[in-house]
Amino acid sequence: MRNANLIHLEPFFKETIWGGRLLEREFGYQIPDGPVGEAWVVSAHPHGESRVVAGPGDGMTLGELWQSQPELFGVPKGAMPERFPLLIKIIDAAEDVSIQVHPDDAYAKAHALEDGGKYECWYILEAEPGATIIVGQTARDVEELAGRIERGEWSEALNEIPVAAGDFFAIAPGTVHAVKAGTMLLEIQQPSDITYRLYDYDRVDSTGRTRELHVARALEVVDFSLEPPTQGFKAHEAMARKMGPISEEPLLWGRHQSGIIRLEENPRFTVDLVQAMGAITHPLSAPFTCVSVVEGMGSVNGEDVRKGSHLIAPASVRALEIEGTLRLVLSAPRG
Ligand code: ZN
Repeated sequence: MRNANLIHLEPFFKETIWGGRLLEREFGYQIPDGPVGEAWVVSAHPHGESRVVAGPGDGMTLGELWQSQPELFGVPKGAMPERFPLLIKIIDAAEDVSIQVHPDDAYAKAHALEDGGKYECWYILEAEPGATIIVGQTARDVEELAGRIERGEWSEALNEIPVAAGDFFAIAPGTVHAVKAGTMLLEIQQPSDITYRLYDYDRVDSTGRTRELHVARALEVVDFSLEPPTQGFKAHEAMARKMGPISEEPLLWGRHQSGIIRLEENPRFTVDLVQAMGAITHPLSAPFTCVSVVEGMGSVNGEDVRKGSHLIAPASVRALEIEGTLRLVLSAPRG
C-alpha cells in the first residue's frame, strides 16, 4: 500500500505447547508449523516484535520505528522515548494455558524486575460451546490459597466461569487467570513478559520436562481484595442495547448499526469496541491509537483493512474515517 498514513503491522508468531492452528484458519496468517498459540500483533517487545508492512517506517520493526521516530507516537522531539506502552496479542488456546498471575508496577519496581507490572484484558473472539475461562480465585487470604495449592484443590481454588464470543474481561494485576482450551481472544496489556505460573496441569513437553512454576512469587502478588466475576462483560449485548437489536450472526448487524462502547479504562490504557456499518468518523484524543480489526472488511482513512489487520494511527491522525462492515478494537495509552 503506497503512501499509507497509518502504520500497518504484521504479527510475530510464537509457538507454545498449548497453541493450535486457528490463527491461520481464521485470519489467513502464514504461521510456522506446529502448535502456534500467540500472534504478537502490536508489539515492540524484545521477545517478539511486529513489523511495519505499509505506512511510516515500512520494513522496520515496531521497536525500531518507536526508537527512531518517536514523534509519530506523540513523544516530543528530543525526548527519550520510554518503552512502547502497549502489547497486543491474539491467543489461540487449543489446550489449557497455565494458571498464572502478574505483578503490578510497584512490585516489579521494588524487586528490580526486568519488565514492569501488567494490566491485561481480554476480548473473546471465539469460544467453543461449553468453553470456560479462569478469572480470579476464591480464597480469602494467602494462607487459605497456599493450603489449597498444597493439597492440589484446584477446582475449589479457581474461579472458572463460562465464556462466549463478545465477552470482555479485565485482568488487573494480582488476578489469577488462565485461558482454557477452545477459546481465541484478543489480549491488550502492558508490555511486560513477567508471568508467575501457579499450576501447569502437571503437563510435560516433548522432552518429558514440566515447565517451571513460581508459586512463592505468585502468592506474593495475588490481590485478595479482588472480587471474582460470575461472567464476562457482554460487549455485543451492550452494543445492542445502545444501538438497537443486532443479530449475532457474523456481519448481520442490521442497518446503520454503528457505534462505540468503552470496554476498559485503567491507569495505563483504554480499550474501545467500535462497530461500523456504513461510514463513521471517530475522533482520536490519545497520542496514538492501535486499531485491531476483529471482524469484517472495509477501510480506515481510505486504507483497506480486513479481519486480522492491525494498524496504528500515529499522532498526526486525529480522526478515524471508518467505512465498511467492521468490528474494531481500539487501544490507546494513557498519561
Ligand atoms: Zn496473563
